[in-house]
Amino acid sequence: MFIPKKSKQLIYFDYAAATPLDPAVLSAMRPYYGEEFGNPSALYQLGARARSAVERSRKTVANLIGARPSEVVFTAGGTESCNLAIFGIAAKYLPLKKFKPHIIITAVEHHAVLMPVEELKRQGCQVTVLPVDQNGLIDVTGLQKAIRPNTVLISVMYANNEIGTIQPIAVIGKFIARANIERAKKKLPQVVFHSDACQAPGLLDINVQKLGVDLMSVNGSKIYGPKQTGFLFVRDGVNLKPLIYGGGQEKDLRSGTENVAGIVGLTKALKLAIGNREVESRRLVKLQNYFFSRLTKIKGVALNGPIAGFQRLPNNVNIRIKGVEGEALMLYLDAQNVAVSTGSACATSSAEASHVLLAIGLDKKQAKSSIRISMGKSSTKGQIDYLLEALPSVVKKLRTMKYF
Ligand SMILES: *Cc1c(COP(=O)(O)O)cnc(C)c1O
Repeated sequence: MFIPKKSKQLIYFDYAAATPLDPAVLSAMRPYYGEEFGNPSALYQLGARARSAVERSRKTVANLIGARPSEVVFTAGGTESCNLAIFGIAAKYLPLKKFKPHIIITAVEHHAVLMPVEELKRQGCQVTVLPVDQNGLIDVTGLQKAIRPNTVLISVMYANNEIGTIQPIAVIGKFIARANIERAKKKLPQVVFHSDACQAPGLLDINVQKLGVDLMSVNGSKIYGPKQTGFLFVRDGVNLKPLIYGGGQEKDLRSGTENVAGIVGLTKALKLAIGNREVESRRLVKLQNYFFSRLTKIKGVALNGPIAGFQRLPNNVNIRIKGVEGEALMLYLDAQNVAVSTGSACATSSAEASHVLLAIGLDKKQAKSSIRISMGKSSTKGQIDYLLEALPSVVKKLRTMKYF
């Protein structure tokens, strides 16, 4: 049995979980950790320079996503953005005695959406969780039919973090906008459309006008920016209740002294991600196709999620291997200096099978025999070759152990 020599350099295949900070991003941030440390709310020059860095960043982010600066709220990451979007809408309706708000989400959302909605259900909201097909796609007609007179929020992720499925956000945005015109005539509450786009920048178009979203969550840590940074796009006219109260920063929506360096870094990262998007997506699609074509030659390996390029993030490969536990495989690959994931980074500590893989119709055993390989800037054909070379022998070894 041939197992290739342990790779000298780390072969990192978990870009969907974390990305290294781009050196250009670090350079842009550095002054704000040093001499430009002022509080943006302070009125002397040092504070004013920090304020202008924040507002310049807001303008840049707005331009990059086709929004107005007033529509960008800086947060501490994707989870906070999703929470602000979801609780921000629901909290306006929950105190009403005679009205029960209804929320629609999909079965494959990130925990940053699932958990707030689960909490809102406990607090009295009605919730519809839309099923997905074997590729992880929702049925748009099914979504249309799920809308009720009391629906106030629909949250559909742009691209799935585990299997890379891209949802038809622009199509959904259009019909929600049409539905809202009719609802206004009938004096029904407007349906607010949120999309968790944390996996999208750098790979997909995140122009909010084209997408037709009212709220959109983005974070820095998936785009070679700093962790705990992000923003929520809030379309003008959409009113949210804040999660955090205090000094009234971010137009009262997110109190607390601004993370100036983080905001500057997030903005630089977003600019680079969008600038490199087309070239990098094309490069990754080629690697992905190469990966897919070679994978099918390994016995007992099947692809999770869509084949078609336009339905799948170009950096995502997710496979299940018959008779092998994903976690054990991950640990054996780690010993070879290859980092892959067994799914959502946020769910790895739980013994539960991935809710995304169960939602696309896999049984528990299949779900637990899956690994995710997510590529990024440093990924090369040579690294894929190494993994493909190591995989059959590692799989064979694990299969002979027969414990799974
Ligand atoms: C990473 C991720 C999040 C959470 O973002 P944090 O910045 O880690 O809070 C939410 N949704 C998706 C799709 C993600 O990939």
